[in-house]
Amino acid sequence: MDRVRAGQFAALTATGLLGTLRTLGPTRFRPCASPDCEGAFIDTSRAGRRRYCTPDLCGNRLNVANHRARRA
Ligand SMILES: [Zn+2]
Repeated sequence: MDRVRAGQFAALTATGLLGTLRTLGPTRFRPCASPDCEGAFIDTSRAGRRRYCTPDLCGNRLNVANHRARRA
């Protein structure tokens, strides 16, 4: 990808991100709920109940920790 195309692509991505934020509202931009994750995400789910930047990773990590804490 050359420089101009990369620039256009970045601009398109930024526009898409802003459009998403405008459509869903600023409350949809949240930090990850996992205590040991510094990530943030835009909740694009319909219900707006997403809590983790990467549900498979951060959600699971927390579940495993809770599970271990319960057993201990
Ligand atoms: Zn996370």
